[in-house]
Amino acid sequence: MFRRTANQGAFSELPVLMDLKTVRSYANEAGVGLDGVKVRIIRDESMIGKDLHGYTHPNGKFIDLYPDAFSSPENLVRTLGHERMHVYQVRTFGVPQNAVELRLNENAAYGLEDSFVKYWQSKGGR
Ligand SMILES: [Zn+2]
Repeated sequence: MFRRTANQGAFSELPVLMDLKTVRSYANEAGVGLDGVKVRIIRDESMIGKDLHGYTHPNGKFIDLYPDAFSSPENLVRTLGHERMHVYQVRTFGVPQNAVELRLNENAAYGLEDSFVKYWQSKGGR
């Protein structure tokens, strides 16, 4: 059976394979638990280079990954860690009700990215 080993067409410049198996592999290596989370890969070529990496739905069940999340292994790890933190936040605290809560959530999610990267690197990720 034909197995893709590189991204195709408009996504061919993105070095990390845009498939769920690859996503799960990086999530495992980085200690990002995805139990009960459905990951969707958004193959929208108009989003390439927009510096938008991911989105967590307010129901805390879906994470969307945009093309730029696949621009490097580290960016995928950062995005998964960041969005996983948002899953935790909306499940535990609910959806942010104002700009202050939103900023606190973002600060926490950005703050945790380095921890996931560090853990991933300690397991041999690069
Ligand atoms: Zn965020």
